[in-house]
Amino acid sequence: MPDGVPHLKPRTLRDPAALVEAGLAPPEAAAGLERVAEHFAMAITPAVQALIDPADPLDPIARQYVPDVAELVTLPDERSDPTSDAPFTPVKGVVHRYPDRALLKPLLACPVYCRFCFRREVVGPDGGLLSEAELDAAIDWFAATPQVREAILTGGDPLMLSARRLEHIIRRLSAIPHLDIIRIHSRVPVAAPERVSDALAAALSTDKAMFLCVHANHAREFSPMAREALRRLQHAGVTLLGQSVLLRGVNDSAQALEDLFRAMLAAQVKPYYLHQLDRAPGTARFEVPITEGRALLRQLRGRLSGLAWPTYVLDLPNGAGKAPLGPDFTQAESDGWTVKGPLDHRDYPYPER
Ligand SMILES: *Cc1c(COP(=O)(O)O)cnc(C)c1O
Ligand code: SF4
Repeated sequence: MPDGVPHLKPRTLRDPAALVEAGLAPPEAAAGLERVAEHFAMAITPAVQALIDPADPLDPIARQYVPDVAELVTLPDERSDPTSDAPFTPVKGVVHRYPDRALLKPLLACPVYCRFCFRREVVGPDGGLLSEAELDAAIDWFAATPQVREAILTGGDPLMLSARRLEHIIRRLSAIPHLDIIRIHSRVPVAAPERVSDALAAALSTDKAMFLCVHANHAREFSPMAREALRRLQHAGVTLLGQSVLLRGVNDSAQALEDLFRAMLAAQVKPYYLHQLDRAPGTARFEVPITEGRALLRQLRGRLSGLAWPTYVLDLPNGAGKAPLGPDFTQAESDGWTVKGPLDHRDYPYPER
């Protein structure tokens, strides 16, 4: 390095001024974005910044993380708690909606803050780390609720915890006899892959069935560093799943979805859910209508490995649960079914016997 040139360690961009400095927003946008930043947290990690082409005004990575003044407009059907977590919270940090599984939210901080986030009203850098006593009470709730067979760590992002704290949680959950499955939902492997150290991966080691569902919406997020992070998790015995949100301007074409699911499979990540956007405040610019989502997925059936097929789901407002949205390839007839061919998209009669 030449004398006198300081080595600047890349840093997470946390405010509009930093965005302008990084060339991700024009200086004249800063004032408007400051108003957005008063309402919703922002963070763009160095790993994510490296994936963005600042010369592309339509960059699909930037679109997920760079704030927009459109976020200041809340539509009448947008809700601050679109999946209704609050009414299903028996103790702080737990959400119990389905009989056999419940969420544990040990903190509400994330490596990045997605502009379309369904929990955007509550997530943030100083958000909601459960105290020691609150975490104890939450884990005690799991121990005292035998119908719950699966603990799902979410937040926020559980992999933002230190390896030591995470290990403590996994160890305590692993000691509960009626729990069969521990599942973690995280964006860390793609957004901050350097956090997935050997110590963090080791913290996930357990005799229970351990699944990690990585949130990624674009093929480019599977960078070499992200793939290494995922590999470390696999070596620790973790089964990897993928979850994505269908997003306007990010993955709203058959080609973008194909590339995304192929990138997941190549990283040994099984696509699990494709989420319809939850109507959180100021997120309307990301919505793709369900009709279009179904048509996009229909094009992919037959075109790529059956392993790639996610369930396309809508998390119903008011806490009614996640419902599959199709597309369906069947239509009921008086004598049986008409079934659409996944290769030629023609209709084939299939009478019931
Ligand atoms: C999404 C969710 C789950 C997990 O649902 P799966 O369909 O099993 O992935 C569990 N509990 C709550 C409250 C949820 O919102
Ligand atoms: S990582 Fe998840 S919880 Fe955090 S901002 Fe993004 S979508 Fe929301």
